[in-house]
Amino acid sequence: MSFTVEILPAFADNYIYLVSDSDIGLAMVVDPGDADVVLRALKKRDLHLSLILNTHHHKDHVGGNARLAKEYGAPIIGPAKEEARIQDLARGVEKGDSVTFSTLRGQVIETHGHTSGHIAFYFPQIRALFCGDTLFSLGCGRLFEGTAAELWHSLVSLRALPDDTLIYCGHEYTEANAKFALMLDKHNPALKARAENAAALRRKGHPTIPALLGEEKQTNPFLRADQPEFLQMLAKGGFAVQDADPAAIFGSLRAAKDRFNTQGA
Ligand SMILES: [Zn+2]
Repeated sequence: MSFTVEILPAFADNYIYLVSDSDIGLAMVVDPGDADVVLRALKKRDLHLSLILNTHHHKDHVGGNARLAKEYGAPIIGPAKEEARIQDLARGVEKGDSVTFSTLRGQVIETHGHTSGHIAFYFPQIRALFCGDTLFSLGCGRLFEGTAAELWHSLVSLRALPDDTLIYCGHEYTEANAKFALMLDKHNPALKARAENAAALRRKGHPTIPALLGEEKQTNPFLRADQPEFLQMLAKGGFAVQDADPAAIFGSLRAAKDRFNTQGA
């Protein structure tokens, strides 16, 4: 078995993921916002598309569904709770369900918050987490339909995955996220190293994805709202953290990020 995860950039900063099994010439795609980008990649590598996965209903994640499903007869699997908002969903899935591609089995994790039914797919055999707009490298998704508590709990369930998990998120936001993270945590050597590495990759036009979950745990402020050392440091920096509830602290970090940069997440 030889599986490859190919990163297909789309629009301004989206990533579409094409997972292929070269032994059998099949591929699955995650969040195909743009059908053309996926069709080009499939044709170039002579692959047949057998499965379409969606993490949530936003157009930049599902916009290519219809053409790809029609061209290849591939079923679309997405969040059961967004069934009414994603056209031609063959199967709605939720927490505890699994999806199969070739010999890979992916677990469905509910990650509500960015949208009300958002899900993530975790494929332990290739250590891959496709988390849409929930967890980003050094950041997290915006709260469009859910509460801060919901998104915090979603991030906590992703944080529970193994440190060697590769994070394939929906957008390239790492550099902008690093600026906010550094403002909060400027003496963190791991964070400084990641910010420099991200800048170097972007200068060459390379993606900063996949990110490694073990590194996110040490550097992503949105995964650290319950870590006493991090909170102490925030307090020293003048950030109000008197509230003991991690979900509330997460909510104020998210609100601060909304004010910090109006672009990206
Ligand atoms: Zn979205």
